Amino acid sequence: MGQKSPITSDVEQFLKNKHKQHTHKELAQIIGCCIETVRRALVRLDLEVIHGAKYQRRLPPKKWGRPCIICGCKKQRPKMQFKCQACHDRERDQDKHIAHQKSRTITLPQVQLCQNKNVRVMVTKENLLTG
Ligand SMILES: [Zn+2]
Repeated sequence: MGQKSPITSDVEQFLKNKHKQHTHKELAQIIGCCIETVRRALVRLDLEVIHGAKYQRRLPPKKWGRPCIICGCKKQRPKMQFKCQACHDRERDQDKHIAHQKSRTITLPQVQLCQNKNVRVMVTKENLLTG
């Protein structure tokens, strides 16, 4: 079915023992594969560090188990993220909610004062007496 890797466990062993005695080109010829395959195998086996993005192993993003600053949950999450995903989402939802409430509390008293002139007068009198 799939392509058979030329890097068998025997080849890996060979690379471990002999990779320093040959150039990558020679190794490729001995194994019967292309140079890139040799290089990838050397990187994978931690035998050589080869600079170049395509040979770099993909390291998983760094994580930490630091307690969430909101709920203290210690579930692993990406490093430098101080809040767990649940709290992050909840906070975002709350922000929306608070913004909505604010606009209501500002508009409500204005509406009351305009609709009921008696209340407005009384409030004004009270203010005069106490002030
Ligand atoms: Zn949390």
